[in-house]
Amino acid sequence: MTEDDALDRMVPPSKIRPLDWFGGTMQIWVTRRCDRACTNCTQGSNLRGATEVMPVALFEKAVVSLKDYFGVVGLFGGNPAITKEFPEYCEILREHVPYQRRGLWCNRPFGHGKLMRETFNPRVSNLNVHQSQEAYDEFKRDWPECQPFGLTSDSRHSPVFVAMKDVIDDEEKRWELIAGCDINQRWSAMIGLFRGELRGWFCEIAGSQAMLHQQETDYPDTGSRVEPGWWDRPMAEFAHQVRKHCHECGVPLRGYGALANDPIGVEQCSQTHGQVYQLKLKSKLLQVVENAEQVEQGALSEFTQYVPNAAKKR
Ligand code: SF4
Repeated sequence: MTEDDALDRMVPPSKIRPLDWFGGTMQIWVTRRCDRACTNCTQGSNLRGATEVMPVALFEKAVVSLKDYFGVVGLFGGNPAITKEFPEYCEILREHVPYQRRGLWCNRPFGHGKLMRETFNPRVSNLNVHQSQEAYDEFKRDWPECQPFGLTSDSRHSPVFVAMKDVIDDEEKRWELIAGCDINQRWSAMIGLFRGELRGWFCEIAGSQAMLHQQETDYPDTGSRVEPGWWDRPMAEFAHQVRKHCHECGVPLRGYGALANDPIGVEQCSQTHGQVYQLKLKSKLLQVVENAEQVEQGALSEFTQYVPNAAKKR
């Protein structure tokens, strides 16, 4: 497959996806800080290194840029509830986004459960407590309508930072995999921070890669300037992001990965991300893979089914 063929099949943030979630999700990333360090976290909350928090004024600018966006607007991290700015983020969302489309991605409320109840629609929120009874109880106590999940079973996280270009030489084959990427076909775009500026990416993993590498002086600024309607463009406008980030991504490999909570789980990355992939938890092992067999390419039928995937045996 060629680049043009793949771009034809890919979904820009402006196109309605066949989902319950109002046809799309736009994450607003506010931090990668998190109280947890899940194996193969998509946002690098399992990694050491500098972390930052989105200033409130930039958060407001990000929300305003989504005027006329049709899908869910997600408050996304890391764990957004551990930022001191959390109440202000909520206030801004309440002012600009209808309740039905306000979503929260969070593993533990840290005292903000009542505010969460006031602000977010539980039907479009993703509350994976990663087997914490305390987190589950706090959610249910202060936000009875919400649906935390992951209390009794772990999540399986397929490796995200194994760059396909490091393990598959054939570029046409990579384009074919990219064209069928689960996150692009079903999931979310993202606004985040790159070198202190707001940036938008067609995919949350593209944004995650850019933010993790932003301190490398020669790393390109791939994000779109966040101005009203930045998201309302055809896929061709995001082609430079696809060219960089998709070939440096492992999502389309659907590798077997590891359980998020396994304290001695083996994390996997490849050479492209080796410099930034420094683990927070010393108990875990890091494997720098060199070929697709090492990630067991195709072991999962769908990357985004974290909890059902946990039960899959080798
Ligand atoms: S960056 Fe990765 S997850 Fe995002 S669309 Fe490209 S291949 Fe898929």
